This record gives sequence, structure tokens and C-alpha cells, in this order.
Amino acid sequence: MNKIFLGLSVAALLVTTALFAEEHHTSAATHEVHWNYEDHGPAHWGEFGETCQLGKAQSPINILTKQTSMIGKSSVIALNESVKSSASVIDNGHAIQVNVENGGMVTVDGVDYKLAQFHFHGKSEEQIDGKQYDLVAHMVHKSAFGNLLVIAVLFEEGKTANKTVQTVLDSVGKSMEMNPADLLPKNSNSYFHFMGSLTTPPCSENVKWYVMKEIQSASKEQITALRKFYDHNYRPVQPLNGRIVESK
Ligand SMILES: [Zn+2]
Repeated sequence: MNKIFLGLSVAALLVTTALFAEEHHTSAATHEVHWNYEDHGPAHWGEFGETCQLGKAQSPINILTKQTSMIGKSSVIALNESVKSSASVIDNGHAIQVNVENGGMVTVDGVDYKLAQFHFHGKSEEQIDGKQYDLVAHMVHKSAFGNLLVIAVLFEEGKTANKTVQTVLDSVGKSMEMNPADLLPKNSNSYFHFMGSLTTPPCSENVKWYVMKEIQSASKEQITALRKFYDHNYRPVQPLNGRIVESK
């Protein structure tokens, strides 16, 4: 009897943990826990969120640099990410994610978007002229109205280890202190912008995307360590369907 009760408790705990992780992956996420990158991978995500299949402005995309337009005034971002934040690092079941408290802020066209979390994909989801990078960090920001803005920071394997990536790796399952600005490239005034979606179910659209042009370096050891958690958690690129990609 005790054994059965214990078994049920463990099951309940696992379900609760999964839901908790999912809820924190993206603010717009549902309680769906069955999608993945294998047997229920991207080709099947329509079953978990119909926008994944039917949406016309999905992310990620392949950015063709020769086909970008000069950025419009209303799309220029002001970054205020340099703040001291405390954060907790979790494995959300699909990615290593850092939930940031009192994180930084991005302002675009008079609207503030607060940093809620950032997470890593084992290869970049976005491509630039067909090139997929070794790693990407997605910094997910949310406005008071619940609108989302994501900054993508691309990484390539290099000689230099990334300090923030290392702190994250050392803090999985724990909390850490950080400055979100440390994750951004030195030149954070140069980026691509387009309208897209969440890259995981429910693939909700109307997400403002900003992909930083300056590529960051992470060491081979760091990339390997992150991929030990998830090595192919990236969605394939989606059709542009006439969307305009702006460049600054
Ligand atoms: Zn992401």
C-alpha cells in the first residue's frame, strides 16, 4: 500500500515538475508536454499547436542579407540590459533556460519589453545566408501587454570561452548572479529584425525578432557541455512568405 502511494506521489511530482518547466519555457506556452525534437518533432508540431502548421510568419528563418531592407525608425531598439540580476538555471525539458528576475529591458517604439528568460539551442535556429551557427541564445522579453520580443545571440566555436555561458553551465539546477548585458555582443547596435513566432509549440506569432549581427565565441568544451543536455533542439527554418527582414 505504501509502495503504491509512493509510486503515485513520484508520478505526481514528475508531472508537476514537467508543467513547471514548460510554463517557464515561454510565457505563451501551454501545458502541453508531449512535443519534442524526435518522434513528435517539428513536422508533427501542428498537433500541439495549429499555428505551427498553419502560421504564415513562423520562426526561425534563413536571413538572406542581400534581400534585407534598411531598418524603419519604429523598429530600432534601445537596450537597457545592464542591470544586476539574480537568475535560476533550469533544464526545461527542451533546453537549458535561465529565468531572470529583475532583468534588463528593451524599448522599441515607446514600448518596454522586460527580459523574462533566456535559453540555448544546441545549434542556431536562425541562419544567415544559409549558414547555421554552433549555438544560439534566445533572450525572451515580454511587454506589460504580454507581447514578446526575442533577441538572438549567435555563437561560433572559437578559442575564447564565453563568461556568461560558463556561469550558466556551472549553475544548472542552481541560482546565479548576472548582468544580462554580458550576454550581448560588444556591438549590439547592429542587427536584423523581422516579425516571427515562438520556435516551439504553440508557435504563437506576432513575436518581434532581433538577431544580433556580431557573432560571439564559445569554446568547444562549452558547446559540448551544453549539447550534452540537448544537441538537436532546433527547429528547421520556415518559409518567409513575403516578410520583410530589416537590417541595421
Ligand atoms: Zn529559443
